[in-house]
Amino acid sequence: MARKRILITGAAGFLGSHLCDRFIAEDYHVIGMDNLITGDLRNIEHLFKLENFEFYNHDVSKFVYVPGELNYILHFASPASPIDYLKIPIQTLKVGSLGTHNLLGLARSKNARMLIASTSEVYGDPSVNPQPEEYWGNVNPVGPRGVYDEAKRFQEAITMAYHTFHGLETRIVRIFNTYGPRMRLNDGRVLPAFIGQALRGESLTMFGDGSQTRSFCYVDDLVEGIHRLLHSDYAQPMNIGNPDEITIRQFGEEIIKLTGTDQQLISLPLPTDDPKQRRPDITKAKAILGWEPKVSRSEGLKRTYEYFKSLPEKEIQHKDF
Ligand code: NAD
Ligand code: UDP
Repeated sequence: MARKRILITGAAGFLGSHLCDRFIAEDYHVIGMDNLITGDLRNIEHLFKLENFEFYNHDVSKFVYVPGELNYILHFASPASPIDYLKIPIQTLKVGSLGTHNLLGLARSKNARMLIASTSEVYGDPSVNPQPEEYWGNVNPVGPRGVYDEAKRFQEAITMAYHTFHGLETRIVRIFNTYGPRMRLNDGRVLPAFIGQALRGESLTMFGDGSQTRSFCYVDDLVEGIHRLLHSDYAQPMNIGNPDEITIRQFGEEIIKLTGTDQQLISLPLPTDDPKQRRPDITKAKAILGWEPKVSRSEGLKRTYEYFKSLPEKEIQHKDF
């Protein structure tokens, strides 16, 4: 039987590269696409020698063309860390809007099923906790995070419009904070920031008083949830995340213990519009996909720390964003 063909945008990034691995392991023909704006080819260099992997260096905000058949498209291209999207706000808006439009057009022309990577950020600074999919969110469109949040909200809207108007097969995953090997040590997200600081013997920079909460999901659990959603018949948005909620102060303390650093947490100003609480309601994922996370934070953090420790010393010392 011919291999199923899947296009994965953002393939050289953290999540995209793990998704490439998963579909290669299942003997799909994987076509990776990335313009490397926040990604790194080293995340997928082990795949280049395979006959069922190809890679296009391309900006998906420009017209996208892929020869041959396509069964699935996973649209994961987008800067994802606040530091990144504050630095490249226009590209962030474009990849969520124009990029998504281009890929929906491609999906339509190939009769492919398309899954988009949405985010818990569509809920903004939520006034309900945990967040169910029915919650409409509390987003400041003109604040610094608006470029990401509104691009993702538009992405969901245009994807749903292609589904209802054109009958395209679509899936929408709302991803909550996910971590694991291949995150960029200097991408500014809290986990690589804290581990990088611990490895360099610096204080850990806690923003605000550290009472804000997040719920961290290990990458393997997320990939499993995405895989199940893609193969389900559920076209409404679906939360995938780990409901184990923790304050950023407690999280910093866990990293201090894990790394054995003699450094402490120091408090820096809280960024504008930083959400105060975030925790996924995963009732739907459990009921519809039979999915729930399996990797505990202590196990996931251990695996991620091993990865960061194994990086070349030069990279660990490199702090520029
Ligand atoms: P990442 O920065 O590691 O990966 C994003 C990849 O997209 C990079 O390789 C980058 O070069 C590529 N890219 C960006 N703009 C592009 C463009 N115009 N054309 C082609 N490639 C482009 O980030 P990530 O954490 O892997 O996130 C992947 C996706 O998942 C993003 O869409 C993000 O919004 C979403 N997401 C991630 C998380 C998380 O916790 N990691 C949470 C919610 C949503
Ligand atoms: N944060 C922090 N120190 C850092 C980086 C982030 O205290 O060096 C906080 C940030 O203010 C937020 C939480 O950690 O409250 C998660 O931030 P991250 O950028 O990882 O993701 P977000 O969920 O905000 O998109």
